[in-house]
Amino acid sequence: MTFRDDALQAADWAASYLDRVRDLPVASAVSPGQVRAALPDAPPEQPEPFADVLRDLDEKILPGLTHWNHPRFFAWFAISGSEPGILAELLIAALNVNCMTWLASPAATELELTVLDWLGQLLGLPRGLHGHIEDTASTSTVAALAAARHVRPDGAVYASEHVNFSVEKAARLLGLEYRPVEVDDLYCMRADFPLDDATAVVATVGTTATTSVDPVPELAARCEEAGVWLHVDAAYAGSAAVAPELRWCLDGCDRADSIVVNPHKWLFTPMDCSTLWTRRPEALHEAFALVPDYLAATANAVDLKDYGPALGRRFRALKLWMVLRMYGAEGLRALVREHVRLAQLFASLVEADGDWEVAAPHPFSTVCFRHRTVDNDDLARRATATGEIFVAATRLRGVPTIRLAIGNVRTTEEDVRRAWEVLRTCASAA
Ligand code: PLP
Repeated sequence: MTFRDDALQAADWAASYLDRVRDLPVASAVSPGQVRAALPDAPPEQPEPFADVLRDLDEKILPGLTHWNHPRFFAWFAISGSEPGILAELLIAALNVNCMTWLASPAATELELTVLDWLGQLLGLPRGLHGHIEDTASTSTVAALAAARHVRPDGAVYASEHVNFSVEKAARLLGLEYRPVEVDDLYCMRADFPLDDATAVVATVGTTATTSVDPVPELAARCEEAGVWLHVDAAYAGSAAVAPELRWCLDGCDRADSIVVNPHKWLFTPMDCSTLWTRRPEALHEAFALVPDYLAATANAVDLKDYGPALGRRFRALKLWMVLRMYGAEGLRALVREHVRLAQLFASLVEADGDWEVAAPHPFSTVCFRHRTVDNDDLARRATATGEIFVAATRLRGVPTIRLAIGNVRTTEEDVRRAWEVLRTCASAA
């Protein structure tokens, strides 16, 4: 068999997986150690044919996977390996370029700068920002806070008590103290905290628990006055700004020093792809640029290794380019709008039933809700154990709450209505 034959088989496998994924149990039911026990203890001595590996993928690996590309995956933030993104990953591996410097692969760097400019336009960000891609928002935030620390060392990082824990981790990694700021009744960070010894403030647009939006314009004004770096974590909700009616969520971000949005969350780009923009690229450059003899800079070119922690850099721009081109702004807007519509629909079903309540505002595609009398942690576990849906629980002010997050390109109204039926059936069986 040639590579071409194997590639056709792989493409066929991927296409039929997408066709049948909705019939598979969303969450895996294996117990710890079960998958390992089915795998050989040692690697093969002789090369094995692709068909054998594919068979083991089906028989041994697939039952142990949770299907994040399932249309009824509603846990954490639902994501999509969209078709353009899947095709792009194949091409990225075939090209296998490392875009650490401009010289290492000029078109890869220039495409990255171009798609970041394109995406910035789609989100209504100011023109002329420096943008580049990191693997995850965790890394993007490390990069932003490293730049902030370079400007103002030894201070604290202020962020909402609802901030994603990756921000606290980044602060810890950089030797900065994290100071949580209280949220108001709507889970938005208060803007009136004392801003002493600050290196940076992190505002979140779309918090992990409730998708609340921190008051970026007020925080931007305070940060400007105090000369403090403002980083905006819009990892999930920033993508909503492709729809003009949702662009309010990025109000004030034109005054932020840096902003991260994850196309691998709600912009249909396969894991991983995190986009980071800054209006102060010189601070990132000063924090990260080291030029060893073997990587001399090219005149008039940008070396993206100088803007973040990693030297080796995947050609992620190719998949973002393909997603932007093959959906077009119109296609992306339509998907985001549909997900928001489905979330509103789900919330209206919950609100119409007196046994349930919506637990927080739901401006995007994620709804926090709970049953008034049943144990909601247990309910989320039982609903997920049906294999029909995957929902995860969290706690809001200590009260167990279920989240339904919509973000998969294949999710339909029928899937959302089915989720509601499964939850109600499980609740009445309690
Ligand atoms: N910020 C927010 C608001 C998140 O919800 C998450 C993850 O869910 C992150 C940051 C971290 O993202 P990543 O997994 O890309 O590091």
